[in-house]
Amino acid sequence: MTACRTSPLLPAATALLAASIAAPTLAYDGAYLAIEGGAWDIEDGPIPFALEPAGSDDIDDDSELEALRSAFRAWACVPGTSVRFAESEEPGVVDMGDDGVNSLFWDETGDFGLGPGTLGVTSGDAGNGVRRQADIVFNGFDSQWSTDETPSAVDVGSIAVHEIGHYIGLDHPCDKPGGQEQNCNGPDRSIMTPAWDGAIGRTPMPDDEEGVKALYPDDGSGGGCDGPFRKGEACSCDDECVEGLVCVQPPGGGRSVCGELCASDDSHCGGAFACVLGMPEGDDRAEGVCVPSAANAKPPGAVCISDGDCASGTCALLFDLARSICMEDCDDDDDCTEGRRCYDGFCLGGTSHEACPVPPGPCGCASSSSSGAFGSAVALLAAGALLARRRRG
Ligand SMILES: [Zn+2]
Repeated sequence: MTACRTSPLLPAATALLAASIAAPTLAYDGAYLAIEGGAWDIEDGPIPFALEPAGSDDIDDDSELEALRSAFRAWACVPGTSVRFAESEEPGVVDMGDDGVNSLFWDETGDFGLGPGTLGVTSGDAGNGVRRQADIVFNGFDSQWSTDETPSAVDVGSIAVHEIGHYIGLDHPCDKPGGQEQNCNGPDRSIMTPAWDGAIGRTPMPDDEEGVKALYPDDGSGGGCDGPFRKGEACSCDDECVEGLVCVQPPGGGRSVCGELCASDDSHCGGAFACVLGMPEGDDRAEGVCVPSAANAKPPGAVCISDGDCASGTCALLFDLARSICMEDCDDDDDCTEGRRCYDGFCLGGTSHEACPVPPGPCGCASSSSSGAFGSAVALLAAGALLARRRRG
C-alpha cells in the first residue's frame, strides 16, 4: 500500500485548483475511505514514529521537524478519537521498509523515484489485519519546501497531515477500492484529497475527522491530546495519566509512560508491557508496575515464562514469590543496577512512579529521559511485512 500527494505545479493539479474554487463545499458527506488492514492496534499504546534528524535540505532551523510533530498532533486532537502517537527516542532513517523504524524523511537525491509530480509517499504494511509498520518519504529532490508559507514552496504541514492520514489507515476519499483514482476535489474534498491545491491546510477536515473517529473511536478513558494520557503515552507524574494508571519510570531509566500497576499474584500487563516486581514486604504480595517491553526483551525483575522472554536470557523461578522472573542475579544490593535491590538472589525493583506535586504549578516531578525499554517496544510494534510500493502521480 502506498499513497501520496501530488504537486500543484503540474497542469493537471492546476486544473484541480480551479475546480476547488468553483466548488467550495466543505461539508462532511461521509466520503472518507479506510485502507483495509491499514489501521494500527492502539490497545497497547500509541502509534510510534521516528523523525530523521536532517529533515529537509531547504530548511535549516528544524521547523520542518516541528511541523511534522504538529501534523501528528492535529490528528490526535480530533475530538472523539483515541488515536495517539509517540515519537521514538531513536532517530528516523533515510530508508523505507520493515527495518524496525517508522521513519519520516526527505529524499534529497531522487533515489526513491518519486518523480516531479509527487510530493510525498506513505508506505506501510496492510492486509495483515492490523498495521505494524509504515514510513513517509517527502520529495526533497524535485520540490522546494518551507514552513513559513513561502508561496513558491511546498508547505510541510499541509503535506504531512495528508501523509499521516495514510500512515494511520485512511485512503483518498473518493477513490474506489481497487479501482480508479479520482481527483476528490468536489464536495468530497478533504485533507485526504490526493492533489494538493497549494493552500495551507494543516488540520483534518470534516470527512477526515469522521474517518479517524471510525478507525480509532473514543475509548471512554477520558484521555485527551493534552492529557490526561493513556497507556503508553509519555508523562511526568501520576496525575497526568487517565484514572487507574500511574506514570511509570522503567528500570534503568528511560522515558516515563502511563502504565498499570501489577503484582506477584496479578502480573497481567497486556501485550507490549512487562510486569516488573518490586521488593515484597513480609508475606505480602510484591507490588509491581507495567513497563513497555518487547516480548523477547523483558527487563530484569519482570515476570516471565521462558528464557526467551528475557533480555538477560535467563528466566528463573523466584520461589518465595512463586513467580518466574527475568534474572539479574545478586548476593547483595551492590550487585544490582542502580535503584534495584537484592532479594533471594534476584534483583527486583528499580521502577518508580511519581506523585504530582501539590498545586499550584505545573507537574514538575523528577523523571529522566533516555532510551530504554520503550525503544524495544517500538521495535516490536514495527515487526511486519512490507508490501510493494506503488506511486501515485
Ligand atoms: Zn495521498
